[in-house]
Amino acid sequence: METQALKYPAIRNYVAGQPIDTPAAALLDVFSPLSGAVISALPLSSAADLDAAVKAAQAAFPAWSATPIKERVQIFYRYKTLLERDMKALADLVREENGKTLDEARAEVEKAVELTEFACSLPQLVQGEFLEVSKGVEARAERKPLGVVASIAPFNFPNMVPHWTIPNALVLGNCMILKPSEKVPLSAVKIAELLKEAGLPDGVLNVVNGDKTIVEAICDHPDIAAVSFVGSTPIAKTVYIRATSNLKRCVALGGAKNHLMVLPDAHPDMTASNVAASMSGCAGQRCMAGSTMVGVGAVDGIVAKIVEEARKIVAGQNLGSVISKEAKERIEQHIAEAEAAGAKVLLDGRHAVVPGHENGYYVGATVIDYVTPDMRIAQEEVFGPVLAIMRTNTLDEALAIENANPYGNAAAVFTSSGASARYVMDHANAGMIGVNIGVPVPREPFSFGGWNESKFGACDITGKSSIEFWTQLKKTTTKWNPESRVNWMS
Ligand code: NAD
Repeated sequence: METQALKYPAIRNYVAGQPIDTPAAALLDVFSPLSGAVISALPLSSAADLDAAVKAAQAAFPAWSATPIKERVQIFYRYKTLLERDMKALADLVREENGKTLDEARAEVEKAVELTEFACSLPQLVQGEFLEVSKGVEARAERKPLGVVASIAPFNFPNMVPHWTIPNALVLGNCMILKPSEKVPLSAVKIAELLKEAGLPDGVLNVVNGDKTIVEAICDHPDIAAVSFVGSTPIAKTVYIRATSNLKRCVALGGAKNHLMVLPDAHPDMTASNVAASMSGCAGQRCMAGSTMVGVGAVDGIVAKIVEEARKIVAGQNLGSVISKEAKERIEQHIAEAEAAGAKVLLDGRHAVVPGHENGYYVGATVIDYVTPDMRIAQEEVFGPVLAIMRTNTLDEALAIENANPYGNAAAVFTSSGASARYVMDHANAGMIGVNIGVPVPREPFSFGGWNESKFGACDITGKSSIEFWTQLKKTTTKWNPESRVNWMS
């Protein structure tokens, strides 16, 4: 294919601090969902290309892991200022490759800054333990890095999700292979360049582009110690099974179906704006999107306000595109099926067209009422700006619907009753709960991760829980006083 005419130069892997060519790799088109135009090309790297990156990471590991954490973290202080310096350019890149609005793209990079700030606090959190365990005998526990680790990312947050893993894993002394989504590879190049500018030694972060071939090669590579994955549930499952069967540590985050339970005593305006923003933010392409609402009892007034709010969300203005033509077709198919099954479409975003972007992949904000739990739209992840509303008479019935879904990323309740809120906090079967919050992302230092089919593996991917994932404990017992009494443990 002709690469000179592309808006962005063809993507190259980034190994040992340099962009490198992969002459044998076939190229894949990279589209901008805003216009449907091909904007770049991506190499479908091979297992041998991955191996070259792993070797670079292995070469960097001894010096990097031996660098005191207080020195490692200095690079990330500098990196944070570079993210802030280049905020506009980074946000533009996210918008171009992912299709979100500029405000959403900027918020994503601001979140990357917050994740970097948390990593800068790690020296305060990982100082280890020490105790005299018997007379003159001392035990200490220290957190040590794992070695070469891998991070596999999805398309929906090209900048933020890589920052879920890169700063923490690297500050804790690991070297990394990043495998971005083949749909959004531009941001990763810039992240690697900025880290180099901040002073990251060559080989500590390497970027390998490609598709499932690289994911499988990561799971199989004998010199990769741990794999983090973020993506859809079917792939998360196969990655978790394959990586752990190769005796690697793995945390694999999957898809979601998040329920927003709305009670009649909820604050109408606050609830309406939160629910509308939750279902439509990032065009509904968030694992935290409140794609399903359960109205408990008399909530018609609140539903009317939600529709009013959703009407203000306009494709091409404050609503971005979805990622691909296939995604647009899938979402519109969900709406059509729900309607055919008897649900009532209160606001229809099908066939949205944005003037000047007629070939962009837009779906307008959509609200569908009287969905029933047996409908496909109530069960599957739609991943578009669509709210499916179910109705129940009691909170227990609403919780039964939430509990029956196989995912467990987030759930939220909208109410002015502390008792009802507490009841949902206790009984919702999900890892992240919102009370009058539609997108209950736990900000740093809290950890991000769902339950059930939304996450496989023991630790969360960010925050304090990730320290456990990216490190292993070394326990040392010492005795320096030969005169001390010998007992069973000395
Ligand atoms: P995806 O599962 O299609 O892709 C994720 C990664 O897996 C990509 O890097 C891709 O190259 C790779 N991949 C794709 N098919 C593969 C295969 N057959 N074998 C091995 N690897 C494969 O996910 P996506 O469409 O990029 O992202 C959207 C999904 O991610 C949604 O389900 C969303 O809920 C989920 N997600 C979850 C979280 C979370 O925190 N739980 C966060 C963001 C996104």
